[in-house]
Amino acid sequence: MRTIGLIGGMSWESSAEYYRILNQGVRDRLGPTASARCVLWSFDFAEIEALQHAGAWDGLTARMVDAARRLEACGAELLLLCTNMMHRIAPAVEAAVRVPLLHIADPTAERIKAAGFRKVGLLGTAFTMEHVFYKGRLAARHGLDVIVPGQDDRARIHRIIYEELVAGIVRAESREAYRAIMARLVEEGAEAIILGCTEIMLLVQPADSTVPLFDTTALHAEAAIEASLRD
Ligand code: GLU
Repeated sequence: MRTIGLIGGMSWESSAEYYRILNQGVRDRLGPTASARCVLWSFDFAEIEALQHAGAWDGLTARMVDAARRLEACGAELLLLCTNMMHRIAPAVEAAVRVPLLHIADPTAERIKAAGFRKVGLLGTAFTMEHVFYKGRLAARHGLDVIVPGQDDRARIHRIIYEELVAGIVRAESREAYRAIMARLVEEGAEAIILGCTEIMLLVQPADSTVPLFDTTALHAEAAIEASLRD
């Protein structure tokens, strides 16, 4: 089993879920006392979130690269960046270490294609929904047609992530808002929806949507288990 390095704490609410899925997945495959070999670097998200909202990408990149190097030095043999949005600086992390970084968009796209879908709705932070680093990878590498909610809906999704979900707050009215936004994406032709922020699964379940949901937290963690056990 290869050791998985997790760059986490963005937020810890979703890192805890990664940890649970990794361990559960190894137990399911290898037996009741088996668990994932892993190392976690967990940021203080208050610091990260302040840098994000200041647009301080150099500072963010330096911190992600530093975390990746620490994990590699601790024996990690493959890395997970446990957030969609911070994949904007995935190339800098990849360049800084020798071990592979498993990009969160790739296992998600692979599963969507295997299910036979092409046109997908994307929910995430405003940055993830609006910039090319994520949608572009889904389109260019995987041939997916990605649509995102309108401006007001994007702002609502973003606000609920940062004011509620990263703090572990789950509100029924926020779930209703997400349900309505997902329904609008389906009206626009989305055949499936990507939960492209690692905390959205705290709020939304498959029953909240008329089309299949692809949860990046679970898909990323499951891909890491497969990679860890492959060799
Ligand atoms: N966890 C979120 C994501 O998957 C957002 C938090 C963050 O990293 O800023 O994009």
